Amino acid sequence: MTTRLAVIPGDGIGPEVVAEILPVLAWVQGRGRDLAWEVHPWGADHFLATGEILPEGAFLDLRDRTDGILFGAVGDPRVPDGRHAEGILLRLRRDLELAVNERPCHPLLDGHLPLRGVAARDVRITVFRENTEGPYCLKGITEPGRATDLAEHTEQAVRRLLEAAFRKAAAGERSITLAHKANVLKHGHGLWMRLFQELRATHPAVEARSMHADALLCALVQDPRPFGIIAADNYLGDLISDLLAAFQGGMGVAPSLSWAPHRPFRCGALAEPVHGSAPDLAGRGMANPTGMFLCTALLFGHLGWQEEAGLLESAVRHALLAGAASPDLGGHLRTGEMGAAIRAGLPA
Ligand code: ATP
Repeated sequence: MTTRLAVIPGDGIGPEVVAEILPVLAWVQGRGRDLAWEVHPWGADHFLATGEILPEGAFLDLRDRTDGILFGAVGDPRVPDGRHAEGILLRLRRDLELAVNERPCHPLLDGHLPLRGVAARDVRITVFRENTEGPYCLKGITEPGRATDLAEHTEQAVRRLLEAAFRKAAAGERSITLAHKANVLKHGHGLWMRLFQELRATHPAVEARSMHADALLCALVQDPRPFGIIAADNYLGDLISDLLAAFQGGMGVAPSLSWAPHRPFRCGALAEPVHGSAPDLAGRGMANPTGMFLCTALLFGHLGWQEEAGLLESAVRHALLAGAASPDLGGHLRTGEMGAAIRAGLPA
């Protein structure tokens, strides 16, 4: 069966980094993979021109007739309340039940790691961030003199995230650390702690511990080497993975894959760089597309195309080792030149 991908470039630098990955899809096709893709207009421009965010028919088409989504970024100062971002990206994460947001931190170059005495190859961390609820459940109220945001944690979503994280830790003989603040967030993070203890008991071979998130951030900066999988709710996972982006060279490098461990729909994964739409860089040819390449490799791995995933990752590694660098990495390459330098490392 043809593998169908949906490509949503979105806003800001999204279309610029996505443009660099489209030739890679043609490369995969040229290797004999039965792949088709369609580029979709959903984003701020389309919303402002038509009033449409993500029509129901389009959502159902993505859900039931595609295998995965390649996503650039959403967010645009012309839509200050971010309603289109909520209706596109947060909706896709929630309604496709993409419960796990997996964010590897595998630094490629020693020079990118700002920590003295730590080698890039010694840092192998993956954040498993719950992707559909917690403080980002978008429930709250602003009243005169008071503003409230709810943080909803359901047993089903937390269990899905933790089970996937423990499976990954067990498969790689790596440790798992739960980031939490159960000392103050007694209800929500209390639920996380209870389920974590339960799963710890059923995975005796996995080295598992829980840490207060603030202490964890301090420990990660002092020495990230002892950490393997880090499981966290949506909010803490967001913060921790942006810190880890700094170990990889910055926001332009860090990849992420959102996926549904329980496979409720045909569309089981959405690849997106950790960075957002970076309006300050949009249209200037300064965006680093590396994160987009690395998250596409994650999507290929998810689709079972391990060989292409590995080839794409090593093309990125070779380009960086050879000195390819956009301005955020201290170089002068423009987005298109950086993309071309990476693609040059792909075998014909
Ligand atoms: P979001 O909340 O959507 O994640 P954000 O407000 O955290 O977005 P980003 O868009 O991720 O912000 O970007 C933060 C800053 O990092 C940008 O202003 C930009 O300077 C830098 N940055 C982000 N992405 C890239 C990139 N691909 N290449 C170079 N610099 C980037």
